[in-house]
Amino acid sequence: MIALLATTAGVVAVALKAPSGEVSLPLTLATQLILIALTSLFGAGTAVYTYWKRCQPSEKAARALQQGRPVCHCTEDGVVMLLDPKQSSSSFWRYECPQCGNRNDGLSPGMATALKRK
Ligand SMILES: [Zn+2]
Repeated sequence: MIALLATTAGVVAVALKAPSGEVSLPLTLATQLILIALTSLFGAGTAVYTYWKRCQPSEKAARALQQGRPVCHCTEDGVVMLLDPKQSSSSFWRYECPQCGNRNDGLSPGMATALKRK
């Protein structure tokens, strides 16, 4: 994405330079520096936005569901349930909602794959 943007910017810069016929080196360097700065700025903005989005409760719940973790629906966005190590064994895992204390018992990932193989 960033590489594509840089390439596009480079093509635009070349196209802008073409009509005049002569290119001064300092200007080219300045243009490149500006482009690099803009590209890094854009990249940083994208990274911050991605990070911010990942921290949103609804995104967290969606990702947890993708990973096969239970999500409690006591809130609008859903709360990712946490594994309770004391109540869990190697074959069954007990999840607990940190928000309302709701519990969810399920097969451990190891046990689930073992059962699927049969
Ligand atoms: Zn809950």
